[in-house]
Amino acid sequence: MMSEMEIVRKYMYQPPLEIDKLFADLDIGYKKVPMKSHESGRIEKTPGGFLITVNSSEGEQRQRFTAAHELAHYLLHRDMLNNGHLDRLFDDSENPSDPFTPAHEVQANRFAAELLMPELLLKHKHEENISLKDLAKTFNVSKAAMKVRLRSLGLVEE
Ligand SMILES: [Zn+2]
Repeated sequence: MMSEMEIVRKYMYQPPLEIDKLFADLDIGYKKVPMKSHESGRIEKTPGGFLITVNSSEGEQRQRFTAAHELAHYLLHRDMLNNGHLDRLFDDSENPSDPFTPAHEVQANRFAAELLMPELLLKHKHEENISLKDLAKTFNVSKAAMKVRLRSLGLVEE
């Protein structure tokens, strides 16, 4: 049987990350429903396991980032979850929420970036001189997110 991380890696290295299939393989419940403005998503325990919800009112690429962020909480922090955790990822003033601290959020954001744009893969693609636009398309992330990622990996100047 494949471990959770083996399953995650299998999907990571076949971009763009297929979140629906990945969550199904991991047996994580996944719902996309309209939530309040500024709420991006949440993760909660259910009688059968875990449920991740993302706000379907946000753009597709934000939803993907949120799903990856909640998956990071599942993989790294699930033992800490009691009543669940709500994220307002695109509203800095409001995050983080219980039971997590800013350090957990930073960790989840880094993990989410790696899930959606794995360093190894991105370095290879970057060497092929693929444009920012096409890189963003390959990984199905926003151009802004790709730019931040390239910068944080030291692949572009400024
Ligand atoms: Zn979070």
